[in-house]
Amino acid sequence: MKANCWYGKRDVRVENVADPRILNRRDAIVKITTTAICGSDLHLFNGFVPTMEKGDILGHEFMGEVVEIGPDVRNLKPSDRVVVAFPISCGECFFCQKELFSLCDNSNPNAWMAQKLFGQSPAGLYGYTHMLGGFAGGQAEFARVPFADVGTIKIPNGLRDEQVLFLSDIFPTGYMAAENCGIEPGDTVAIWGCGPVGQFAIRSALLLGAERVFAIDRFPERLRMAEDGGAQTINYEEADVYATLMEKTGGLGPDSCIDAVGLEAHVPGVIGVYDRVKQAMMLESDRPHVFRQAVLACRKGGTVSVPGVYSGFDDKIPLGALMNKGLTIKTGQTHVQHYLRPLLEKIQNGDIDPSFVVTHRMPLEAAAEGYETFLNKKDGCIKVVLKPNETYPMTARAHQLSDDAVGSDRPSDHLGFSTGGATMAEEHEARQPYKCAVCGAKFDSQDQLQNHLKFCTQKVTTSRP
Ligand code: NAD
Ligand code: ZN
Repeated sequence: MKANCWYGKRDVRVENVADPRILNRRDAIVKITTTAICGSDLHLFNGFVPTMEKGDILGHEFMGEVVEIGPDVRNLKPSDRVVVAFPISCGECFFCQKELFSLCDNSNPNAWMAQKLFGQSPAGLYGYTHMLGGFAGGQAEFARVPFADVGTIKIPNGLRDEQVLFLSDIFPTGYMAAENCGIEPGDTVAIWGCGPVGQFAIRSALLLGAERVFAIDRFPERLRMAEDGGAQTINYEEADVYATLMEKTGGLGPDSCIDAVGLEAHVPGVIGVYDRVKQAMMLESDRPHVFRQAVLACRKGGTVSVPGVYSGFDDKIPLGALMNKGLTIKTGQTHVQHYLRPLLEKIQNGDIDPSFVVTHRMPLEAAAEGYETFLNKKDGCIKVVLKPNETYPMTARAHQLSDDAVGSDRPSDHLGFSTGGATMAEEHEARQPYKCAVCGAKFDSQDQLQNHLKFCTQKVTTSRP
């Protein structure tokens, strides 16, 4: 099949790779009809998130048709049309039982890598680094969907792909960001970033009862789309954001502030030079400018909600303001599975049509152009959807595998990133001659081992059993 693969900073390529296969009893294979490029993919494209490897298949926003299921997937059948949630979640662990799906304890076979950086590992994600599982992504003709019984929602007839695709990520992400604000009637919400996530946060805040939403960005077409969604806008290149928010809220500050920008904030002025230099020298992981602004602008006792992705350790965070103003911070990768059904119902009821955000449609083969266009906001680009080749010939696939044709359900068997298909044994034992002397992890190349050694500086802890 064809898939869009990461090869390094600003280098993605559509290549022929092995088809994915059912590896575990709760897997499904989905033939992808529509997939999208996310702002989170841009962080990988720009090389800001560690533990990507050459050849990794990108993409975590995808939908399509189920073509195969493992024997323990009882709620799906081949030919079902589904949207796939971007976190991979078992549905059974302590965290999934609390519906904190992006914190699943059973879906990241490389949990030890994330533990080093974060203390504990979040869930595995599609197409999003080896630290978060090394799973093949969905910018491809097919994808393997582990725990498919929990991670998919069936789409009824009558809804177009572009109306439902964003249930995979950005609609729930904007919605959870707004829900995390605990909006009360009369509230004012300020939202930094009018990219796709910001757009859904604006509409969700209003759906959840906010009286006023201020949306902050600098691109006219994004600000226009924010206004169409009901926000009042602030162009941060033309106005002082803090002063404007204070003035508009009678000196109180917004009741809640949403950082829908994350680690690649555009930072004008001296602090921008500081962040860029420190980030380039790897002395700071992110450029947390928007988070700083949100903390300073938020009213006393308010909430700062952070859907924007951050990756590591950052400087000059105003902890004094956060503490002394009694602020609440809410954040996280989105618990998408929790939102699938209620948000599908909102789409069906006509409360929102998420396709408003799509500005560019391209074949999968044009993925590299799609990334450049989205990154540089060319031609007013706000959201790119890719259409994998729908005429791809399905070879003689069995629609449902027999019990003994599939592997175990151990989380450690949920790998399969770079080829998207081969089994653990084929993938990770036959190759990978380079072994880390500290922790024993194996790698395909000297380059990958070197990359790993940057992280592997201490004795390894393993995932909770
Ligand atoms: P995007 O890159 O299209 O949008 C970011 C927007 O922020 C741009 O319009 C940019 O102009 C604006 N911006 C940059 N600097 C700014 C500043 N100083 N002040 C105000 N606005 C500024 O990306 P997106 O798809 O909308 O994603 C936004 C963030 O959300 C990213 O960090 C992404 O990784 C993250 N995200 C998180 C989750 C999650 O589960 N938490 C899911 C999806 C995306
Ligand atoms: Zn995303």
